[in-house]
Amino acid sequence: MRMKGYNVLFPMGFHYTGTPILAMSKRVIAEDQDLIGTFKNLYNVPENIIKSFREPKNIAKFFHNEIKLGMQDMGYSIDWRREFTTIDTLYSKFITWQFKTLQKKGLIVQGSHPVGWCPYDKNPVSQHDTIGDVEPEFSEYVLIKFRLADNNIILPTATLRPETIFGVTNLWVNPDIEYFIIDVDNNAEQWIVTKEASTKLEFLNHNIEITTIIKGNELIGKFATDTIRNIDIPILPAKFVKPDTGTGIVMSVPGHAPYDFQALIDLKKETNLHSFNIDLSQINPIKIIGIQEANLNGNSLISCVEDAISKLKIRNQSDLGLEKATSEVYHLEYYQGKMLPNTGKYSGMDVQLAKEEIKNYLLATKHLAEIFYEFVNKPIKCRCGNECFVKLLNDQWFINYKNKEWKHKVHNYIDELSIIPEDLRQEFHNVVDWLKERACARKSGLGTKLPWDHEWIIESLSDSVIYMAYYIISKFINEQKYSMKKNLNNINESFFDYILLGSGNVQDIAKNCNLSISLIQEIRDEFIYFYPVDSRHSGRDLVPNHLSFFLFNHIAIFDKKFWPHQIVVNGSVLMEGKKMSKSLGNIIPLRTAIQEYGADTIRLAILISSELLQDADFSFDTARSIRIKLLEFYTLSQQILKSNFYNKVSNPNLSLDELLYLDISENEYSLQLEDRWLISKLQRLINNVTRSMETLRIREALHNILYVFDQHIHWYKKRINAKKRSNDNMVNKILLLCFSIRIKLLSPFAPFISEEIWNNLGSRSSIVSSKWPTVFNEKIDPLSEESDEFIKRLTLDISNIIKVTRKLPHTIYIYCSSSGKQKIYQKILKIITLTNERNFGNIMKKLIQDPETSYAKKDPSFVKKTVEDILSESVEARNNRLNLNSVDEISIIKDSEKLISNEIEFENIRINVYSEEEKDKFDPKSKSRFSRPYKPAIYLE
Ligand SMILES: [Zn+2]
Repeated sequence: MRMKGYNVLFPMGFHYTGTPILAMSKRVIAEDQDLIGTFKNLYNVPENIIKSFREPKNIAKFFHNEIKLGMQDMGYSIDWRREFTTIDTLYSKFITWQFKTLQKKGLIVQGSHPVGWCPYDKNPVSQHDTIGDVEPEFSEYVLIKFRLADNNIILPTATLRPETIFGVTNLWVNPDIEYFIIDVDNNAEQWIVTKEASTKLEFLNHNIEITTIIKGNELIGKFATDTIRNIDIPILPAKFVKPDTGTGIVMSVPGHAPYDFQALIDLKKETNLHSFNIDLSQINPIKIIGIQEANLNGNSLISCVEDAISKLKIRNQSDLGLEKATSEVYHLEYYQGKMLPNTGKYSGMDVQLAKEEIKNYLLATKHLAEIFYEFVNKPIKCRCGNECFVKLLNDQWFINYKNKEWKHKVHNYIDELSIIPEDLRQEFHNVVDWLKERACARKSGLGTKLPWDHEWIIESLSDSVIYMAYYIISKFINEQKYSMKKNLNNINESFFDYILLGSGNVQDIAKNCNLSISLIQEIRDEFIYFYPVDSRHSGRDLVPNHLSFFLFNHIAIFDKKFWPHQIVVNGSVLMEGKKMSKSLGNIIPLRTAIQEYGADTIRLAILISSELLQDADFSFDTARSIRIKLLEFYTLSQQILKSNFYNKVSNPNLSLDELLYLDISENEYSLQLEDRWLISKLQRLINNVTRSMETLRIREALHNILYVFDQHIHWYKKRINAKKRSNDNMVNKILLLCFSIRIKLLSPFAPFISEEIWNNLGSRSSIVSSKWPTVFNEKIDPLSEESDEFIKRLTLDISNIIKVTRKLPHTIYIYCSSSGKQKIYQKILKIITLTNERNFGNIMKKLIQDPETSYAKKDPSFVKKTVEDILSESVEARNNRLNLNSVDEISIIKDSEKLISNEIEFENIRINVYSEEEKDKFDPKSKSRFSRPYKPAIYLE
């Protein structure tokens, strides 16, 4: 973009906020040898500096500096005047302003909401705090209370689909695991759950006391009362029931859930039933109850469950295929299902709606059900190593991403802004849908205090969502000349209100903050000049949090004209196909890698390995081959430097490529077909690369610059060699033009070597300040491209005939079609392109109707074949040929006779070209009548 004339702002800041650094410094204090070894051996941190890591800020400072040097070594053109950290005084004031602004808008709430929680650190956890950077995601389950028929003890079952309650036939219990009988909430109720479930309930603010431990086996054969339908159902054994999922007791709905369906089949086959104290008389009467039907063909969903099980060849309840069967059936019923008449007042209702209604009905009485939360992506582990739980946190501060109006605005804007790759748009919508209240503060860690409650520190995914606006301000605090630093303490929220929102009176603010009016105005003007963010690039793992919060917060705080324009999402970088991790020992610190391979090589090896959303895969083989390629370019530039055939750039106002274009244009009369072809291909290269870059298809752009164009150069050299033009000055100029353009195109990817080569080519100014190459449409030459394709095809046809006949010919006779055929060809091409007519009969009719082509009726087979020829070409080729009218095939072939014989590798072969119309042609087998435009007839002798 900079080469295209834009004033590009590429800033960088450092995020210190949060607990990970704190945790690390605790490990240093505890003399954790694993961590200290990593610092020492992997990152080469000197001993005395490791000692200083007992203070968390020193860790941040050390790696901040390392990373910054790495970025500089990589050649990122960053405006370092704007650098800041998230614990700088003014940044904290900025975040204070953000939170006060959100609070004024009613978007901060305090209350009890579920959060991911580390019991050891006693802190909420989000992606930044977990091992493997996993964003904890949890679902809201309904805990439905069944009761033991003999003594009323509650058997709670957790479900996401409470509407299936009408289809419950039995409960499942795992006979081999332990269950606790617990007193819940000071003897209010007695429940039976697994040990794991009991722990989870405690985090959900239940008071739990364990009274008895029993084996699952002891429950089997008993009956449970379903108080909703007032019936008793048997408790049966099932191995698929896991102790750490839900409560460890499962309600069985075989008409809906493939697992339940299969477990019943398994049970009927079980030979050892008596060991569970049950027999077939308890199982056989179980009737599978259909409760929902899919809209497809009015099939009850029972048949869908059965179909899925037989289609996926499920063998038993341990079969992994059951997961797939479940997701297929659930999806079908949830989106297309309706409730059946046996569900009472819910009969005929869409499943989605019935689910909500029944949930509300059940939750209205604590006696029937309550809410239960569980991770959907467990296990979640905190960086401290402990397992995390869903905790119902009281008096915690939340950003209310659940706010309907706010969600609505964000949804609308997601439809408007540019998202690359486009397939992620729906993912953003989904995130906005499920986002709920989000804990925005922690009791420990680095960062900014919550302005109205200083016990809390704003957490890292809340203080990093509008920081881009701060880059405007940071320049003014960093640079001495603005003398803003000494008035830091006076700066208050009114300052940010004016700079970022344009509200308030600048005189008052200046007085208030002890700053000059002109300085405040300058900052405001620069904010308006640069904001909004034109393109935000981040990793795919940040779609569900950072990138979505980035949208939410901008939309809540700023005027619409300052909302981000584009989000670009990329994958991460793998090392030889594997995730980089300390345990795999495959981490190479960036700066070490640069020292070994060079920055350009590393940049290219990563960029060329994948498109945006895939994970880039760094491999040493690729790095080596990239290095060879870059050296090739470099060597070529040195040869040019020595050869001195072109006077070094003498005009300071024009770059090398511009000068060459001028020179070549002045001598246009001497351009040959292959010259025009290569210049035309060069325009296409520029056009393709530019378009790839605009849509961030970086791999494709690089591939075109580095490799595809090499093939064109190679072919061009063959063509000039056939004509013995190697010493032709024009050829050298054209090759130099192509080379200089490629270097320009390469420069955003490989800045160092491009600059060096650019200098070798005689340029005095930096390639960074040169212009991105322009496409000259008038230099795109369809005739030369078409004739080149024509020659390549003809050569291939001749080689194929030689291969088939297995005879070495001494002469090739080529017959080009008559002008009459060419006229018909153009007419057909016109009919197909302009009217999209493809029917042979209709095309023939149109040809005959036109007196100019009515003779076509004498040769229907030619017409038929021509229609086929044209339809087999791409639309682009058809348009090209339409614009060209007819081409002089004979002169094209004559121009390339030597090339053709070189290509078929018969040095001394003779080539004779005739028009079909020629009277004296040599045509012993009357082949010429088979010729068609672009498809000459061939005869070998
Ligand atoms: Zn922890």
